[in-house]
Amino acid sequence: MRKLLIAANWKMNCNLEEATALATAVRESLGAVVGVEVALCPPFVDLQAVKAVLAETGVQLGAQDVFYEDAGAFTGAISPRMLQGLCKYVIVGHSERRHIFGDTDESVARKVHAAARHSLVPILCIGETLDEFESARTAEVLQRQLTAVLRDSDPLPEIVVAYEPVWAIGTGKSAEPEAVNLTVTEVRTLLAEMWGLEVANGIRILYGGSVNSGNIAGYIRQPEIDGALVGGASLRAQEFCDIVFATAATRR
Ligand code: PEP
Repeated sequence: MRKLLIAANWKMNCNLEEATALATAVRESLGAVVGVEVALCPPFVDLQAVKAVLAETGVQLGAQDVFYEDAGAFTGAISPRMLQGLCKYVIVGHSERRHIFGDTDESVARKVHAAARHSLVPILCIGETLDEFESARTAEVLQRQLTAVLRDSDPLPEIVVAYEPVWAIGTGKSAEPEAVNLTVTEVRTLLAEMWGLEVANGIRILYGGSVNSGNIAGYIRQPEIDGALVGGASLRAQEFCDIVFATAATRR
């Protein structure tokens, strides 16, 4: 049975003081939630402070990106070696990294494998643009993005996949849960073709794109969707906790 995961992507928001306050508010409101894993992914500079706030709560910590080299002349980059031991998860291949910062399928693949080599759990984001969606190319795009990461690789100890249609991120236009379930089923089939059915059945596949406390239950009711990657709504502590509570309360 795959454990549900609700991960917060704070993106480029919150200075140290704001991050500490937001994490503290989440900690206070969340209390002990059963059956759902929760992770907060603040900006790099806030990781230490948020880690301190979350100590002994069971809420996990994640970073929002990572470079693929261990060390060297890579000004501005953060290596997996620096994150090892600091956090559990690292988001890789988010559409904002792909489209604004030029991450490619190849660099995303290198980042995923570098993260895994340093015992980090990659949250691999994949998803089609509006143009690709409207021209019925979703399956082709997801296959290309996934294959780049998984081909020529043994199964990783742990990986989470986040299916995030680009047109649903930050737009308020969330995708239909039934349609997401079908797409996620296709993603799992691709995983099974590459890594075998048993491994594929153990990999959590999240949905991301304008998730809020009012629509999360619709996704969690779907048998193939194992949680959500939450952007905008994760910046409001009570709203984020309500997403977690609704997830815990939803029967599958
Ligand atoms: C995201 O940043 O991964 C995301 C899904 O954002 P939002 O929830 O704001 O659409």
